[in-house]
Amino acid sequence: MTDTSVYQTTVQRKAGRIGALHLRRNGIALPPLSTPILYPVVAFMTSTNTNGGGIWKYLLKDVMKHNVPMLSQVLHFLDFNLTGNTIGYWREKSMRERYRDPNGPYDAPMFLDSGGFKLLYNTGISLSEFGIHKETAADDILDFQLTLGGDIIASLDYPLPPGLVRSEAETRMNRSLKNAFRVVEKLAEMENPPYLYICCHGQSREDIQDYVMQVFERLADVPSFGLAVGSLVPLRGENDSEVLSRICGVLDAIPESARDRTPIHAFGVSGNLTPILAYLGVDSLDSTSYVQAARSQSYAHPDTQKKLKILELDSMECTCRVCQETSLEEMQQAFMEPKSYRRTSTGKYKSYYYAKIALHNFEMEVKSLDNMVQAIEADNSLEALVNYAAKARGVREAVSWLVENNHEFAAKMSKMVVSFPKRITTQPTKQILSLNYTPDSFSIPLDYQPPTEKRVLLTIPCAGKKPYSLSRTHSIVNDKLRSAFGENQRFIHKITLSGLYGPVPEEFESEEAVVHYDFQLLPQNAAQIQLSADRFNTYLNQHKTHYELIIGYVTSRAYRKVLELVEKQHQDFILLPTKPKQKRLSEFFRHIHLDELIEILSNALTAN
Ligand SMILES: [Zn+2]
Repeated sequence: MTDTSVYQTTVQRKAGRIGALHLRRNGIALPPLSTPILYPVVAFMTSTNTNGGGIWKYLLKDVMKHNVPMLSQVLHFLDFNLTGNTIGYWREKSMRERYRDPNGPYDAPMFLDSGGFKLLYNTGISLSEFGIHKETAADDILDFQLTLGGDIIASLDYPLPPGLVRSEAETRMNRSLKNAFRVVEKLAEMENPPYLYICCHGQSREDIQDYVMQVFERLADVPSFGLAVGSLVPLRGENDSEVLSRICGVLDAIPESARDRTPIHAFGVSGNLTPILAYLGVDSLDSTSYVQAARSQSYAHPDTQKKLKILELDSMECTCRVCQETSLEEMQQAFMEPKSYRRTSTGKYKSYYYAKIALHNFEMEVKSLDNMVQAIEADNSLEALVNYAAKARGVREAVSWLVENNHEFAAKMSKMVVSFPKRITTQPTKQILSLNYTPDSFSIPLDYQPPTEKRVLLTIPCAGKKPYSLSRTHSIVNDKLRSAFGENQRFIHKITLSGLYGPVPEEFESEEAVVHYDFQLLPQNAAQIQLSADRFNTYLNQHKTHYELIIGYVTSRAYRKVLELVEKQHQDFILLPTKPKQKRLSEFFRHIHLDELIEILSNALTAN
């Protein structure tokens, strides 16, 4: 077509469309990428070389071998405890070149997001050892995206957590816009630029409309760019109507003349919303749930998508590529063995099988999207949507929204379903919490390993405010530790003692089930106290040898009870404060107790 990357709609229906991204890499046209498409989210900077990363190693191998277009974000390495030197190594070559040796050539497009959401609650952390400096973050992130070889990139953005106060939201939206315009300018100077998606944010449908209108006013002369809708992840499953509403806000605001050359990506919201989003006109989506489910050995049922535990399956009646080449018996045999970091008796590591489950789950999500794509092609997307809505799981709120906002859908749906429950509208400005989580909503993955450098375990109780780090109790401890130990604070592994889930290592603080649950452990709740203690004891049995020092700092009675049970089983567990006057929260903030904590920690954290 032209000498730059472009998107073009090929089939436009009343609802839904088919199109193609015509991408160029180093000036050479790639085969058109047909949309709607679902990208698997992957991590590839997981270790000091291409041979690490557990499940990711196997996932990448498969995805690259089959040339599946993928999505990643450049700050994903923050989850893997890598040093600046290691990131220097990853920046020497593109991802494609780096992995050519172990995995063979990979020609499919790679979409590289900025990872702005990683910085959401971590504005204090310094990334300068990784070549990303505060003052030049947008440029540095762009550089990183370019060196890693993104064919498609999204500009550094500042996502809006639900309930964020207006003034802060406006500041963040302005910064996101400013970065986007800057990236447009930088790419315009390049010989062979990647294809750009501008990240869009807003606190409501009208808000995001306004944002998109500003984009088009400013970028009227840019031939083709995409729009990527962000800030949706925390709403997903909690407020699906708001997810759909904001996406429609983006669609509303695109000028008619630009519509068939502007692709829309929805960040972080796929799963059971996928067919609905494609119906509304979203051109691409990405999934992390395929791998999250696999980590708890959850296998998507080929027809119902219901998640089943792999050890409970009698057979895998799935015709997907992955299941055809995998033996259920072999997989179950491996999972039943206790070892995690050695080969199982099948000759393979467990992560190999975790990857297989993930890949199957991904295939199922693709299948669900493809059904809608075929319906769009055949011009019966409305019928396909109604059929889907009538039997899909977990889409009640999204369907209610469709009933309210799409008359054709409502009319057709009412013929199939006698009555539909009225949607309860949620307050968008409140912190969105759910009481529906159970102890099983979160568990530490079976293959979990504590970060290498963290050699002191410190457990403190959970808090109402999420993520925990933002709560008063956690901030106070954090400040105290920083002023006492400075740099050396990084050796402390904070594990929150959740009344609902038991131990929650700090790396899991932003998981959906951890961010959105609301639970208060009462001293009377003996069963839950026992459950939390059991989980904590299990954690220590597995990982105790990793730590030099294991400390709990807890004053409330219920949480003390949990840790007293832990103390009984683990003699070296230190429960602080040693002598709280009362067992209640107010004691938590007393200097005398915090000083005692610092003193005990000093034994392990200051040079002798
Ligand atoms: Zn399968």
